[in-house]
Amino acid sequence: MSWRNFLTKAKNFVLDALFPPICLNCSTPIQSQKDFLCPLCFDLLEINSSFYCPKCGGRITDPSFSCHPQTQCLLAPAGAYFPPLPALIHYFKYKKLAGVSSFLTALLIVYLKRINFEIGSFQITYIPLYPFKERKRGFNQSQILAQGVANYFSLPLVKALKRIRDTRVQAKNKNSQDRQKNVFGCFVPADSETIKGKNFLLVDDVYTSGATVSEAVRVLKENGARKVIVLVAAKA
Ligand SMILES: [Zn+2]
Ligand SMILES: [Zn+2]
Repeated sequence: MSWRNFLTKAKNFVLDALFPPICLNCSTPIQSQKDFLCPLCFDLLEINSSFYCPKCGGRITDPSFSCHPQTQCLLAPAGAYFPPLPALIHYFKYKKLAGVSSFLTALLIVYLKRINFEIGSFQITYIPLYPFKERKRGFNQSQILAQGVANYFSLPLVKALKRIRDTRVQAKNKNSQDRQKNVFGCFVPADSETIKGKNFLLVDDVYTSGATVSEAVRVLKENGARKVIVLVAAKA
């Protein structure tokens, strides 16, 4: 089955319909909200087929060799933060349009099947939200994607990290050192025994500056995690 067919099947969910149904990316009227995108915007979707370096953004063809090994992880972005993905992610995170999460999960699955690695040896985990923020939003977007991936590959979903500090003030004009300082210490292990000696697929929705993710990776590695792969729907 081609990946386009796979996505078409995966998006066949009951939706809270927008009325009239529109393309989430360009607002063109479409036949059914189940489609999310008009055919033109659907064709814009590009799914990656390799790992990337979290530091320089370079493609990594051989996962055993990283150009920036100090990052202690590989970046696995299903796509680029380029239309139509930003719109889909926005509807998923802020407008709670049911079904978009399944579409994004399907995107992650298609991507994971394309890259060559032993997924069976990995546990799935996610970037936790600060509890107050999660209550306000009503869900953790990363956890939903992680759950979908775990279900599909029959892998364990574990809560490896806890967020003990809210770091939402991640001002855009901060330089990378300030951003890293701002998030330092915001995660602690949920239970260090679940981390030691395990491989983790750490799921988040979008990879932008990477400050939050690299702090999560640091805590996982400090607590004995073996390999860490950061899986995101889109890389900015
Ligand atoms: Zn469109
Ligand atoms: Zn690099």
